[in-house]
This record gives sequence, C-alpha cells and structure tokens, in this order.
Amino acid sequence: MDKQRVPEQVEDILIIGGGPAGYTAGLYAARARMKTLMIEGESTVSQITVTDLIENYPGLPEGVNGFDLRERFRAQADAFGLRRVAGDVTAIAPVSWGGTAGWRVTAGGTTYDTLAVIVAAGANWRRLGVPGEAEFIGRGVSYCATCDGPFYRNRDVVVVGGGNTAVQEALYLTRFARQVTLVHRRERLRAAGVLPERAFAHPKIAFAWNSVVQAVEGKDFVEGIRIQNVRNPAEVRVIPAEGVFVFIGLTPNTDLLAGIADRDPNGYVRVDPDMRTSAPGIFACGDCIQKLLRQVITACGDGATAAYAAQLYIEDLKGEAY
Ligand SMILES: Cc1cc2nc3c(=O)[nH]c(=O)nc-3n(C[C@H](O)[C@H](O)[C@H](O)COP(=O)(O)OP(=O)(O)OC[C@H]3O[C@@H](n4cnc5c(N)ncnc54)[C@H](O)[C@@H]3O)c2cc1C
Repeated sequence: MDKQRVPEQVEDILIIGGGPAGYTAGLYAARARMKTLMIEGESTVSQITVTDLIENYPGLPEGVNGFDLRERFRAQADAFGLRRVAGDVTAIAPVSWGGTAGWRVTAGGTTYDTLAVIVAAGANWRRLGVPGEAEFIGRGVSYCATCDGPFYRNRDVVVVGGGNTAVQEALYLTRFARQVTLVHRRERLRAAGVLPERAFAHPKIAFAWNSVVQAVEGKDFVEGIRIQNVRNPAEVRVIPAEGVFVFIGLTPNTDLLAGIADRDPNGYVRVDPDMRTSAPGIFACGDCIQKLLRQVITACGDGATAAYAAQLYIEDLKGEAY
C-alpha cells in the first residue's frame, strides 16, 4: 500500500450498525488499535433494545434486559476507544488512493472513507401486508411486545406467527393480556425447545391453526382480526382483539450492498466462514448474513470474526502482516 497517498482521515475499519454484531466488532477492532468508526442507525434501532428478557446469553443465568445488554456492549467498546456517529448509511462505493483500494460510505450528507467495511445492519420485522395493518400501527398493531405489551393489561390480543419469537412474545404478553390467541398458518409451531411446551400449558394462550390474516379491523383503534382457514377457505372469522402483534420473520437491512456484494434470494449477505463478502474489504456479520441461527450470541461471534478478518485484511494491505 502506498501509505503516502492514503489520506490521514481514512478509517481502517468502518462498522455499519450498533447491535450486538456491530458492538462486538467495534470492541475487537478498537482493542486491536485499528482506527475504527461506527455509524449507528438513526432511524432504526438494534433488535435487542426492544427485547425485554434475554435468558439464553451465556454467563447471565438470571437473564438480562436487551436494552441494558446493549448499554453494556456499548460501554465496553467505548472503553477501548471506539468512535461512533449516528446516521443511516445509504450507499457504499469503491474508491482508490494511488492504487490502494478502499470504500466510500455515505450517511446523510456526509461521506466517510475507509479501507474496510463491516456491515452489521441487522434485520427488520416483516409486515403482513393486509388491509388495516399499516393504518393501525400505533393504534393496536405492533411489532414489539416489550414496547407495547403493557398497554394491553386485561385486554385480548392476537399474536401472528409460529416461530421462536412469536411464541416467546406470546408468553411475554400473558403477563398483561387477558387472553393471547396465536394465529399460525400451519398446524404446528416452528418454535423449538421449551417454548412450545410452555405455550401449550399456558391457560391464557389459545391457538388458531392453519389460518392466515385477511385484514386488521377497527374504527379508530384495532377491534379485531379477520382470519381465513387455509384448509377450508370458506371458513372466515373475526377474532376480537385490541392488540395485534406481528412476528412473521425478518427482512435483512442489506439494500446498501446491492450491486456491491452477493446476497441470497432473501437478501441475506453471503459470507465465507471468516465473514468475508464477495467484495474485497467488505465484511458482514450478525442477523444480516445468510446463516442458521439469528441470536445475540451468534451475532457477537460473527462480529468478533469479522473484526479479526478485517484486521488481517488491513495488515496485509499495509504490508504489516506478520
Ligand atoms: C422481540 C425480539 C426478541 C428477541 N429475543 C432474543 C433472545 O431472547 N435471545 C437472543 O439471543 N436473541 C433474541 N433476539 C434476536 C436478537 O435481538 C438479534 O439476533 C440480534 O439483535 C442481532 O444483532 P445484529 O447486531 O446483527 O442486528 P441488530 O441488533 O438488528 O442491530 C442492527 C443495527 O444496525 C443499524 N442499522 C440498520 N440499517 C442501518 C443503516 N442503513 N445505516 C446504519 N445503521 C443501520 C440499526 O440501527 C442497529 O443499530 C430477539 C429479537 C427480537 C426482535
């Protein structure tokens, strides 16, 4: 690398996203004394910040509130000198300084130059796309039980979905709601481990199997949800409910890599075991990559690997590898 020509302000590593993956990458990179900047989403938040209780993070047997855990990640990375700015990254483009390749990242009206990028932008909850859903967001439709569950004390709510999060959040909602009806398009849950057992045994949880949502109904606020039986399409009924919590999967925040790095048909970034994407100098980690298990612990592991792989990439680029 021609060190003379790479401007002083160019970062070694620029991390996009401030969730478990981004903060772990930040901790490892800053601790390895890489010049590291994190751009932390402004209009989106890390999923852990909306999670009430995480009880499967090793070493914390009493469980931990997701927001508190993010604060701990942040304090630990900051202590090693991670620099952070708020912003929504909209573009990544190649740039070069006298033959040394790097990347130019745009967030808001500002551009940042860097030798390596770690994309840790996570994922967002998918919407049902049915009439009434968008209209009633904030008036009965929610994607976050932790945020909105307490509003439904002694009321009836519906949870849509059958995976781990749907079942976990249905159980959480029983703390407040009078009844929780779980609407699932199949006749068995996709959730694993102890969660289905707990849900089946819970007196407040009912199930509407083989059912898809046709519409969210109400006047000023949600009053019910119209469902159709997929086995018997003539069977359409309305479940009265004041809250509808939707947990039907994730959409990765990876549009900024369009045309830059390979993604799978669902938009998840394809990485090798060392978190390298198809674009040299761009690494990805956490919920935005193609993988089996999207959890805090796996996001942290990915983040550590991405930071170390980026460090080796930069040392190689600078001719400092040993
Ligand atoms: C309700 C709920 C309950 C959960 N419960 C558990 C649990 O019990 N145990 C467990 O292990 N996991 C749980 N998870 C999953 C866990 O939260 C995720 O696996 C984890 O947060 C993924 O970390 P991440 O860093 O990859 O992404 P995220 O935590 O989603 O963070 C992504 C970051 O990227 C930022 N970002 C996005 N786009 C941009 C952009 N364009 N520019 C800049 N920044 C951007 C966001 O603002 C955010 O800071 C739960 C998730 C939810 C939603």
